[in-house]
Amino acid sequence: MKRKTFLVTLFAAGAALAAPLAAHAQAKGLVAISMPTKSSARWIADGANMVKEFQAKGYKTDLQYAEDDIPNQLAQIENMVTKGSKVLVIAAIDGTTLSDVLQKAADKGIKVIAYDRLIKNSKNVDYYATFDNFQVGVLQASSIVDKLGLKAGKGPFNIELFGGSPDDNNAFFFYDGAMSVLKPYIDSGKLVVRSKQMGMDKVGTLRWDGAVAQARMDNLLSAYYGNARLDAVLSPYDGISIGIISSLKGVGYGTPKQPMPVVSGQDAEIPSVKSILAKEQSSTVFKDTRELAKVTANMVDALLAGKQVPVNDTKTYNNGVKVVPSYLLKPVSVDASNWKKVLVDSGYYTEAQVK
Ligand code: BGC
Repeated sequence: MKRKTFLVTLFAAGAALAAPLAAHAQAKGLVAISMPTKSSARWIADGANMVKEFQAKGYKTDLQYAEDDIPNQLAQIENMVTKGSKVLVIAAIDGTTLSDVLQKAADKGIKVIAYDRLIKNSKNVDYYATFDNFQVGVLQASSIVDKLGLKAGKGPFNIELFGGSPDDNNAFFFYDGAMSVLKPYIDSGKLVVRSKQMGMDKVGTLRWDGAVAQARMDNLLSAYYGNARLDAVLSPYDGISIGIISSLKGVGYGTPKQPMPVVSGQDAEIPSVKSILAKEQSSTVFKDTRELAKVTANMVDALLAGKQVPVNDTKTYNNGVKVVPSYLLKPVSVDASNWKKVLVDSGYYTEAQVK
């Protein structure tokens, strides 16, 4: 066969092969992905990674962001239900507000995966893909304990506590995980919460809003730290850490005479990685959204094929109606000592992005 004829034949054979593949892709159907907001880079990465994973498996995708507006997310999901989606993958803004629309989805045989955040008070949640959320809090608090030198007997130190959004189930897991590490030091007096503000009802930050946290930090600093140094702040999320650090800078922290307190975080968002390199934020917790997207796509694929769905936890996540079978990924603590290995060598960011 002449080379040209051979190539043409090869191309034709390829096209013939591709045709049934494309038909198959359509046959696999539509996956609807409802994300909370684009205001935080992590959710943008989650959305993009899921579209990639699902399309590679032959699904069509419908990705929507609700800009942290609950009625907006509800309307988007209603729409997804009527558009013929086979599966809804949802990271809820408020995990308690979706029961009615999920009933409508169930009536149509649509499957539901809770993504990263548990959906509460509904039997119509099939699976949950997330990270070990308690462990996230443990990592945040452990980095504070290490950096203060509490294990070596240093202290007492002053600390203030911040929690995530009280309508997000994760916020309680983060807080409880952190307190499992901090409480013994608070009880022994090695850590002192001068404001006495403890418990999610007092330290929660609605919608994970950095500006809300900044305002609370302003108040705490003026009410309790006029004559005392603040040594550490438990912060549950990078966007909140940024607000806290602005407030601290506003009263003079971040100089050689008055160094920044130890401040934790979560998500390894670029501004916070930069802040870690600038010695402002102390640590963050990296959650590889590429892995979460993969786990979710594998769950959906197995679920729709009637195969066994991969899970590794069937005890932890009771949503008020049932325990939702879950797959928990491992979060990783990141600070100035390991950011390159964890974030750059893994290909998550390029070095230029974070420097
Ligand atoms: C996620 C965190 C994130 C937070 C704010 C939580 O539900 O698990 O990774 O920092 O929401 O977006």
